Amino acid sequence: MTGTNNKVYAAKSIVVKSRPKPGSGAKAEQRAVPRPAAKLYADVILPLKLGGRMTYAVPEGMECITRGTWVEVNLAGRIYYGVVDAFKEQAPGLDPLKIRPLISLPPLPAVSEKDLHFWRTLADYYMCSEGEVLKAAYPQNVRKQAEVKSRKTAGKKGAEAASSLPQLSAAQAKALAVAEEALSAKKTVLVNGVTGSGKTEIYMHLAMPRIEAGGQVLYLVPEIAMSRQLQERLESVFGDRLLAFHSKLTAPQKKKVLERLAEGGPCIVLGTRSAIFLPLSNLRMVIVDEEHDSSYKQDDPAPRYNGRDAALLLASQRGASVVLGSATPSYEALYNVAAGKYVQVDLLQRYHRSPEAKVKIIDTRKAMRLKDMKGSFSRELLADIRKTLEKGEQVLVFRSRRAYSPVVQCLQCGDIPKCPKCNVPLSYHKYNNTLECHYCGWHTPFDGTCKACGSAEMAPRGAGTEKLEEELREYFPEARVERFDAQTTESKTAEREMLTDFAEGRINILVGTQMITKGFDFANLALVAVVQADSLFSLQDFRADERALQLLVQLRGRAGRREASGRMVIQTCQPDHPVLKRLTGKADPEQGVIALAERRMFSYPPFVRLIVITVKERSEGRLWHIERDIRAILKECSVNSVLGPVRPPVEKVDNRLISQFWLKLPRNRSLALTKNILKVKLDALRLRYGAVDITVDVDPQ
Ligand code: ADP
Ligand code: ZN
Ligand code: ZN
Repeated sequence: MTGTNNKVYAAKSIVVKSRPKPGSGAKAEQRAVPRPAAKLYADVILPLKLGGRMTYAVPEGMECITRGTWVEVNLAGRIYYGVVDAFKEQAPGLDPLKIRPLISLPPLPAVSEKDLHFWRTLADYYMCSEGEVLKAAYPQNVRKQAEVKSRKTAGKKGAEAASSLPQLSAAQAKALAVAEEALSAKKTVLVNGVTGSGKTEIYMHLAMPRIEAGGQVLYLVPEIAMSRQLQERLESVFGDRLLAFHSKLTAPQKKKVLERLAEGGPCIVLGTRSAIFLPLSNLRMVIVDEEHDSSYKQDDPAPRYNGRDAALLLASQRGASVVLGSATPSYEALYNVAAGKYVQVDLLQRYHRSPEAKVKIIDTRKAMRLKDMKGSFSRELLADIRKTLEKGEQVLVFRSRRAYSPVVQCLQCGDIPKCPKCNVPLSYHKYNNTLECHYCGWHTPFDGTCKACGSAEMAPRGAGTEKLEEELREYFPEARVERFDAQTTESKTAEREMLTDFAEGRINILVGTQMITKGFDFANLALVAVVQADSLFSLQDFRADERALQLLVQLRGRAGRREASGRMVIQTCQPDHPVLKRLTGKADPEQGVIALAERRMFSYPPFVRLIVITVKERSEGRLWHIERDIRAILKECSVNSVLGPVRPPVEKVDNRLISQFWLKLPRNRSLALTKNILKVKLDALRLRYGAVDITVDVDPQ
């Protein structure tokens, strides 16, 4: 498959500056020195989607290069940094005169054989090119700037941290012992611990001996936001052996981490998913906290990898131990526990003795009937908020929709304005008086008149975070109410300020979206309120219930983390929803099993492996042809269990129609071959149709 791409690009080659002596010269050399083979041509991985692998000639004077060396090359008039993957004495099918030479050798530390192997496996698994993996591993800014200087820094302050590990409680010590035992039996450990049980302390105790033995530990968290408080805690234990790494670091900051890793010394790397690509030469353990979190998945661009699964793969290649942790383990993890592959370690007590927040469910249909609603809030919830504020404690109000109202509607003709480019209703934002599409960003000023009938009676329907904020300001004029969502935290400074203000008690009520649920520890937060919880249940997604439960458990964990136990109030018009039953512990203990059985019955993960092919296309006619061709390809690959083409709930975004194929593949068989053939055929299809947008998502979230 490389050969075809090579042909495409090699043909465009214009100038050849210097080239190795092809033909006889090479043979003569080979006869004289049989091993190692002459490095005449190099296969180079380039940060590209298609044709991410090209052949170049190795000019004289560059024979020192090895597999993994960074090289500068020219491709179709552009300069790229790539990585040498293999050497060849011949370049079959290519005109030797047209093969370009390597230009130069950038002073970047070579990629190790192990890392190259990892890239290859990831590319195969996620059905993308090695070039796309290279791009994820070394984003542009790093490739250009990570050139390691002569290392004067080595051996600088050998100052090691005062390794003061926290004393474990009896329950924690027991969990630690069980975990170590499982690890020595080469099992993956799943720490199933309620929020506040001290999973972090267990991780620290697991990491320390590995680091002291000279090893490296990778500690993954789903989002950067989570890592701030955690970073301080880890720093106090591991000192300068802690390295933090995530995609928002500046190039010089990343460079510093790479320099430290190049020294190869013991360390613990705290990072988000992209940290799996760091050159860890001595990896002993991988810790994946909040393993269930969907933010581990990279949706776009390729590689569409799940940081947790990629970390598992990395660990297995390196013989490193794996520790997963969660308060609400993913169904995948539970499945593996049931299959005996993972060992589950339970931590069911909070470290600070307070019990978990009590949950109260308020039925909004009933409240409505009794005229007990005031705007978006039931009087009961408002009374709870008032009591909390009177005690000097804080309140968090959660709503999954931002904007003032998710929809506006004309009271005369019933029209609901929709995005002209996507088939979704426009959200109304009052602060700047616009209607905005949350899918493509299209927006228009809102003048209150109906474009369909001209009436001036457009009314907001439903309440988003902005409306809740407005209502709460009205009901509690003496309180400071702020809102934490994608809009108010556009500026990172604003985001940080708001979090500090809330943590230090200067904000009384914080209204927020999903963004607020993760990893923050607010000591004085006593009440968490969820308004319109129903929107969490109604998603058209087989994982909706699993996600809703994870989110609610996480939110509950935010309430009353220390001495006093907190309270959680949920407003919903489905008070008997199974998710709420499970949250409040009123569910049959078999509920989790039943949910898994449903997945089995309808062939969903973890019982099958899911691959989703998505096509986005402007022209309906072309889409029809592409769909037909994909169906044919799937048949050729003997993929029989296919759902599709199907239109997703939002079937047009930014003027492009969306069509999907859901492939359900057996779990117990290796899919490597099927995937490989499928990838080659889809690549060919992409080329055939020109710039058609076809993406493949393996294990979508
Ligand atoms: P989790 O990650 O399971 O939600 P944390 O590790 O954040 O829980 O622990 C919750 C709180 O309890 C933190 O404030 C932590 O400092 C404290 N804690 C847990 N275990 C210990 C311990 N062994 N010694 C001191 N403090 C602890
Ligand atoms: Zn109208
Ligand atoms: Zn739109």
